Amino acid sequence: MISLVSIKIDEDVRQTVDKVLQSGQLAEGPVVKEFEDSFAAYNGTPYAVAVNSGTAALHLALLAAGIKPGDEVISTTFSFIATANCCLYCGAVPVFIDIDYDTYNMNPDDIEAKITPKTKAVLITHLYGQPCDMDKIVSICKKHGLILIEDACQAHGAEYKNRKTGNFGIGCFSFYATKNLMTGEGGMITTADEKTAAKMKAMRNHGRSGQYLHDTLGFNYRMTDIAAAIGIGHLKKLDDHNARRNKNAAFLTEEISKIPGLIPPVIGPDRTHAFHQYTIRITKDFGITRDELQARLKELEIVSNVIYPVPIHLQPLYKQLGYTDSLPVSEQAASEVLSIPVHQDLTESDLKTIVQGLNNAR
Ligand SMILES: *Cc1c(COP(=O)(O)O)cnc(C)c1O
Repeated sequence: MISLVSIKIDEDVRQTVDKVLQSGQLAEGPVVKEFEDSFAAYNGTPYAVAVNSGTAALHLALLAAGIKPGDEVISTTFSFIATANCCLYCGAVPVFIDIDYDTYNMNPDDIEAKITPKTKAVLITHLYGQPCDMDKIVSICKKHGLILIEDACQAHGAEYKNRKTGNFGIGCFSFYATKNLMTGEGGMITTADEKTAAKMKAMRNHGRSGQYLHDTLGFNYRMTDIAAAIGIGHLKKLDDHNARRNKNAAFLTEEISKIPGLIPPVIGPDRTHAFHQYTIRITKDFGITRDELQARLKELEIVSNVIYPVPIHLQPLYKQLGYTDSLPVSEQAASEVLSIPVHQDLTESDLKTIVQGLNNAR
């Protein structure tokens, strides 16, 4: 079977985990600190704060940014639901805008029309591992005094103009089991601001300000030293894995470009892609539907996945909340996209099988 993800825990990683197990200190301790330092150094970000999920990272980033009940946060509808849900956790209102047809990322040209006196922040997602159009987004945020938060949960190591994601605003990463850098469950928040980092460190540990002293409402969002040990080992492999994903993506794109009705991913200018997902569009010209194609691939034991079949504004939860937006580019994408394997451990023969499968599907 050719799966969408390859999860291998190498011997070197198992050894660092074993050291933590032998130490007996399993909860947050020196290894978490070491992981934060190495992630900050890798990412080129002054501060990194480890937490136990990408969702926790987003929640603390919004709280540290001062997002309060009733505030509006401009965000993308074409993302994992956690992006928008974290606004709801803060009592804030996610205001959805549509995506760019080619990159599936938030269309910056639509931001300004949605700004109101209640708008406090812009929350972007670097979807599938591709950075957003950062020059435009950063300049709009500056012009209107809005805080920028990056959901970089799929974009570890991806760069815009030679700067890694998580360096443009408050950066939120996930280390969930299927992500390019994984610790099972886990997350990291990056920031250039010392006070923001300190706030998030306190809030991940029940707002602790001293020995059993608490001055703010916090949570238990602590990472374990076990997860951090896995993270330190996997961080060393990230660039190699991303390079292999890119090599596989280049092969797939060259071949898929020749197949009428299929559109390979488009990489925008001035950026590199982490290829967390390799996502194609199946248009009417292909001859069979997306779901039929997915079934054909399944017969060949090639796993594919629709990421995401329902944009956030159309999710039952958001309909119950009263959302009635129509965001046609996202809705079209939801009906046309299919993510196919691109992971670092695909063999040449796997790649050929995938291309053959796509070619013979009609
Ligand atoms: C994975 C992911 C999250 C949530 O991360 P968890 O670690 O699963 O909480 C948020 N946003 C996006 C875009 C993701 O891909």
